[in-house]
Amino acid sequence: EYCFGGYKSTEIGEVLGNRYEVIRKLGFGHFSTVWLCKDKEVTCSDMYSAVKIVKAAEMFNCVAQDEIKLLRCIKSADPNHPGYKHIIQMLDFFQEHSLNGYHTCISFELMGPSLLHLLVQSDYHGIHLPGVRIILKQLLQGLVYLHNVCRIIHTDIKPENILIKVKDDYVRNLVETSSRYKELGVQMPRTYVSSEAWEHYIYCRPIPPLGPIPGAGCFERTSKIGATRASSFPKEEGEPKMKPEKHSRSNKLHQPMYISPNIEVKIADLGNACWEDHHFSCNIQTKQYRALEVILGADYSFPADMWSVGCLAFELATAEYLFNPKRTSSISSTEDHVYLICETLGSIPRYIAQRGARSQHFFDQQGNLRTHDDSINLKYWKTEDVLVDKYMWKRVDAIPFATFVEGLIEPDPELRLTAAAALTSDWINETF
Ligand code: ADP
Ligand code: MG
Repeated sequence: EYCFGGYKSTEIGEVLGNRYEVIRKLGFGHFSTVWLCKDKEVTCSDMYSAVKIVKAAEMFNCVAQDEIKLLRCIKSADPNHPGYKHIIQMLDFFQEHSLNGYHTCISFELMGPSLLHLLVQSDYHGIHLPGVRIILKQLLQGLVYLHNVCRIIHTDIKPENILIKVKDDYVRNLVETSSRYKELGVQMPRTYVSSEAWEHYIYCRPIPPLGPIPGAGCFERTSKIGATRASSFPKEEGEPKMKPEKHSRSNKLHQPMYISPNIEVKIADLGNACWEDHHFSCNIQTKQYRALEVILGADYSFPADMWSVGCLAFELATAEYLFNPKRTSSISSTEDHVYLICETLGSIPRYIAQRGARSQHFFDQQGNLRTHDDSINLKYWKTEDVLVDKYMWKRVDAIPFATFVEGLIEPDPELRLTAAAALTSDWINETF
């Protein structure tokens, strides 16, 4: 994708916008690469920032201009709001030219790894519940600001887009590891974070001075995280889909990872966000976090983000997707998605089922689910039972958490928990 209209090829040591010296790569997305840079105009401890270099094609530049407008609103709407500090702040923007064309660049406050990195670090056991609660509280505060003050819908809430705040020690480690790799003449894994830096994140331990370079720790989403409830059941020949034998479930001992209560997170990647009254697309959200109304082609607003929060909450606690739809030879991935949702919710009210432009495909006139494959036999498996049966949670933990998640995956967007309501919910406040 480093071609005409694509990513900008960027060298370590290069100066962007006459101001930002490139130190190392931090990450990349569909639209951009993001680089750790030293701000040559600032000499205090805030001299490092993250510069996002957007792909060069006209379309990407237009999207980046919309992102800048949204980020400007976020920056100025109400800096005293408690949710303000849980959304990434833009520092500056400028243009760069390369052989691939013109690239919009946006500099941001420097953040650390994402919640996806944290899940990988947990070895796919998930985060212990008090940690999940701390993270979600901050995410919800950020969303109250985004929704109620800025009137912005994020449309892409998922672990990759929630970033953990860095501390000075961590930045020092980032800079030192990249110069150590340079000295050794070894190419550093693209998103390398040392294990000491992780200990610092997770347990708040100080990072010791850099020793020998340990084994590479490059974080990519592996297939392991994609286990869905339905597809993780061992399938037997002739068994109807999604109907597990009672004792054939792949139970996993739940050994969640503890994290420091000092963790601070911020919502990032406003690249797909839109205004409440001005949407840019009807095809929003990453599949696994996509709200029912979006799947059905109905109108969407802030509640679509809240559905994603429900999926994210489940994933942080279990390290597995709540819904991971898969295409098979007989059904599409979207059909599978609707089936998975019906299995979890039991049923979807008729007035919701029939509301969207694509409703006819999934539901008949009576609001009954059309099964596109006769062998499909859906089985109601509510979240509480999933947590107990599959993840071996104690029911006393599962009930309040499942109630919280169900409030967020409520099929009627009008009845779904808002960010403000979720903040006052029992599970978030431990009042049970
Ligand atoms: P895209 O719109 O292309 O998806 P993102 O804004 O999501 O771009 O950024 C891509 C990746 O770069 C993120 O997943 C994250 O790993 C990293 N990143 C983005 N912003 C920052 C930041 N402020 N500090 C540190 N890393 C960041
Ligand atoms: Mg992204």
